[in-house]
Amino acid sequence: MSIQVSFSAPSIAPNGPRLVTFFLCAALAWSQTPAPTVAAAAPKPPDPIATMVGRLELDRYKQTVKGLTQFGDRRQGTDRNRAAIDWIEAQLKSYGCTNTERIRYDYQPPAAGAGRGGGGRGGANADPTAGPGGSRRRGYRIPEGVNNDPLKQPDVKLRELNSQPSTPGLREEVYCTKVGSTHPEEMYIVGAHMDGIGWGEAANDDGSGTALVMELARVFSSPDVKTERSIRFALWNNEETGLNGARAYADQRKGMQGIESPPGSGQYPEPKWLGMIQHDMMMFDHGMPLKDGTMSKQQRPEADINIEYQMTSKFADAAMVLAHKFQLADDKYATDYPANVGPHMTNTDSTPFMDLTPSISLREAERGAQLGQGWDPQHHQPTDLYSTYNDDDFRLGLNAAQTTLGAIAQLTGAKLAETK
Ligand SMILES: [Zn+2]
Repeated sequence: MSIQVSFSAPSIAPNGPRLVTFFLCAALAWSQTPAPTVAAAAPKPPDPIATMVGRLELDRYKQTVKGLTQFGDRRQGTDRNRAAIDWIEAQLKSYGCTNTERIRYDYQPPAAGAGRGGGGRGGANADPTAGPGGSRRRGYRIPEGVNNDPLKQPDVKLRELNSQPSTPGLREEVYCTKVGSTHPEEMYIVGAHMDGIGWGEAANDDGSGTALVMELARVFSSPDVKTERSIRFALWNNEETGLNGARAYADQRKGMQGIESPPGSGQYPEPKWLGMIQHDMMMFDHGMPLKDGTMSKQQRPEADINIEYQMTSKFADAAMVLAHKFQLADDKYATDYPANVGPHMTNTDSTPFMDLTPSISLREAERGAQLGQGWDPQHHQPTDLYSTYNDDDFRLGLNAAQTTLGAIAQLTGAKLAETK
């Protein structure tokens, strides 16, 4: 159908030029009027948090993800995992987050046949639409799994790098802390897991979250940034074996919260937990698998950051409010992608904290209803490589960094010192 615009246009046309001339003259006259003597409103001072968020850069974020992939899949209990922890610690120190510490724990894999357990699986009568974490399965699905076959990695060098098997025993994980200036006894924990599996480079799972936490440690450690409350930047180990590293931290340190030690020192080895924020798989949101089982090659235009809390947790109400504060911080500070909130947080390192403090996770997609249905075909596969992702993918990770930086800066009372 063509569009014919034949209403009264011709009848008003003759008046056109005269009207334009009139308005032009009026505009000229106004421009020659002396400026009004009312004092102009003082310019709004720049938002210091926006300045801090502006210190995050796509290239730096990509470089940090790339740096992590030099250690291959960083599988727990291997030399490449230990080398990655040393590298992360050196990076944190170089950013000015110099008070690094390590948690030590023993890890013994469960006997063969003992399952990891997980949400959503049940007996013969279980609802087939029930997904992990209380979510509901919908739409087209690609089955999920973990690749344990080295020959599925076609890159011979990477296969060799990933070849040392995991041995049981002592494990370590590293964290550093931004100490609050007026409330050093209270803190938020910002975390991601640095170990991976699947015979790739664990670039997205979870190099993307690890790089995000490291980048936040860098920005908050800048000498001109002060926060009233403390922030701990934690890089968990052993996530892929069942959240063992985060659980070791929670078990070892929950009873130490808020205790000044030594008394009178003003030092708090474990400030009281105000909340725990986990970042796990930050980059790939290409939508639901297509009907033929393939995936779109491009980030979907409506890609978002998924902020989840767990509705069955002891701190569900406070965690929901925290999640929405992060969503609002995304509105204010994230440059490209929106954030959405869901109640089915599952299968990540915030789980061991969720009955101890308000806990949320940020991801590329919902863990249960989306990732659990195959929305990320690189998940635990040899294809989780730095080279798999394009700048739209990396930018989604960067937007999550902007979101958490903005939210945590607000929650901890972050300020910028005057520069001379
Ligand atoms: Zn993960």
